[in-house]
Amino acid sequence: MAMALHYVGGRLVLAGTRGSGTVGEDVTRNVLAIPGLPHRIDADRLEVRGEVYMPLSNFRKVQDEFANPRNLTAGTLKQKEGDRERLKLLAFAAWELVDEDFETDAERFARLDALGIPTVETRIVPRQGLEAAISEWSERRDELDMEIDGIVVRANRIAEHLRLGNTEHHPRWAVAFKFQGESGQTHVEDVLWSVSRNGTITPVALVSPITLSGATISRASLANLSRFEELGLRRGSLVEVTRRGGVIPYVERVLDEGDGPRFEPPDHCPSCGGPVERRRIREAEFLVCANPESCTVARMRDLEHFARVLDMKGFGPKTLERMMDAGLISTPEDFFRLRRADLAALERLGEKSAENLLSEVERNREIPLAKFLEALGLPHVGPKYARILAERFGTLEALRKARPEDLLAIEGISEIIANAVVEGLAERSERIDGLLRHVRVLPHRERKRSSDGPLAGKSFVFTGTLSRMTREEAQAAVRELGGETPSGVSRKLSYLVVGAEHRPSSKLRKAQALVEQGAPLQIVDEDTFYRLLDEARRAGS
Ligand SMILES: [Zn+2]
Repeated sequence: MAMALHYVGGRLVLAGTRGSGTVGEDVTRNVLAIPGLPHRIDADRLEVRGEVYMPLSNFRKVQDEFANPRNLTAGTLKQKEGDRERLKLLAFAAWELVDEDFETDAERFARLDALGIPTVETRIVPRQGLEAAISEWSERRDELDMEIDGIVVRANRIAEHLRLGNTEHHPRWAVAFKFQGESGQTHVEDVLWSVSRNGTITPVALVSPITLSGATISRASLANLSRFEELGLRRGSLVEVTRRGGVIPYVERVLDEGDGPRFEPPDHCPSCGGPVERRRIREAEFLVCANPESCTVARMRDLEHFARVLDMKGFGPKTLERMMDAGLISTPEDFFRLRRADLAALERLGEKSAENLLSEVERNREIPLAKFLEALGLPHVGPKYARILAERFGTLEALRKARPEDLLAIEGISEIIANAVVEGLAERSERIDGLLRHVRVLPHRERKRSSDGPLAGKSFVFTGTLSRMTREEAQAAVRELGGETPSGVSRKLSYLVVGAEHRPSSKLRKAQALVEQGAPLQIVDEDTFYRLLDEARRAGS
């Protein structure tokens, strides 16, 4: 946003937007809060012209309510009660200094530098190097921390300014070059609803990748709910996508609606599953999560859990946070929607690590049922119950059809767990369906039926620490031989194995009580357990 700053007696006394004629106390007070702009300079009377803008790195922190940095900058500057936090996100860059005489433009910019006033990036190039410089800048635009839609070429020598003079509207010694190739046509593949940290739910179109101004575009902003409803997108709609001012792609209009299914806004928060509200902010309606604080916490927990269970390396809390802030990830499904072009836009993420993240995602296009269940974050379902459920039901489809009583029939599954699993799966049905569009859940591999092995009909529970193997290894060995490893001590149990290192445990007390009541259960030490294993192995071979 163009701005003129007036310094009188060395002090910044007045700031006004140029063109629109907005001058006044509010704008001046707001401009004074912009970081990096000197309030006092070593000069008596000066007018500095330049641009107030929001660096893209700052815009990404607050972007959800605004279509682009320009709107946000204008809105922030003009507010009556200046929001100081938001003003701190703005920056100023000068491109003109009047009231002083110079031989060349280079001197003018050097003077601005000396006064401590930030300037736009400039470069002196010979006339014959002009074309190369313009195309170089055009290629660099994605790396800049501001949106630019072109560059201005000015004559360096002031004598040339005087010689060339002005037309009625603009000087002949300065020419603006607008970058080309900013819009293109593509198809809408999907719409995702990105939930920001403050709870705003923004629609984003996933489009068939196209190249605009040298960059590959695979997602485009739909701004807000009003805009989304106005566009009326369907799966497969042909749309025009524009890179507004260069960086943030935007769905401009629908060219051919097509006859695919129409996209609808979610009736609950895609991130936390909680209620959503429509909220009017200025001229547009937005969809917001009704409980943004618990939503963010829940989302981070879900995403971290999902990445950890599937051992997707590189998706640590910091990276996830940045992806959330960039609107790339709100639900586990979004992991599988990441594309190279999305990660390229993330700051401080090298090409190599982007590549690694994508291959971690690719590695998980096929997920064993037990892992999938664990990754869903169902209450009470850690690795152990996930495995039990996978073994028992074999496929995700079968488990999703199960009733609580079907689960209760499994040894070691309590009523609380049975209900939690059935309810948890129902609550997550949308999330599961979403994931199934991107991944294949592998059925649990057929195991030998337990009645086949030498330990068939025998069950083992462990307490304390085993000295020669981990508890998981011991349980696996038992199951390998056809035995069972229920989670708790019951009347039906065959053996309680007490590890070499143990403290009085509730399992041990319960087993002792059962033995006293005449249960056939045996309490054995570690060595006895290994002997039983050896005997079973010999019998089985
Ligand atoms: Zn939410």
